[in-house]
Amino acid sequence: MSTESSLAPRQVDHLGIAVHSLDAALPFWRDVLGLTFVGFEDVPDQKVRVAVLLAGPNRIELLEPTAEDSPVRKFLNTRGEGIHHVALRVDACGATLDHLASAGVRLIDAVPRTGAEGARIGFVHPKATGGILLEVSERPEGTGHGVS
Ligand code: ZN
Repeated sequence: MSTESSLAPRQVDHLGIAVHSLDAALPFWRDVLGLTFVGFEDVPDQKVRVAVLLAGPNRIELLEPTAEDSPVRKFLNTRGEGIHHVALRVDACGATLDHLASAGVRLIDAVPRTGAEGARIGFVHPKATGGILLEVSERPEGTGHGVS
């Protein structure tokens, strides 16, 4: 355990970018820009298919909806393609959500759900953050740089 607050986010975990089509979006990010393509992952809980890319240690997730009622489909319909959410890495997702709720912060998820690579994640409502959908993400030990 660190001597710092265990609830303080450690780093930006990833950026989530909503796209209509991974096939259409991936060539720019992987082939032209040259990011390292890690792999695809289906996240049924969010009804998205994810393409995971790395820029050095930094992670970008392209998000393609897999159902009409996917939250990312709704985002695309109203806002178009673009940054969907910012994720911050935390040590304890549930405790962080509890802390935020007790501070009066409006949450989308009161309890953690399962994200890509088995991460425990929760979303904070954009109305509480100045308009940004914020994810807090707790990763199982040893993950975060690959789809296994
Ligand atoms: Zn995310």
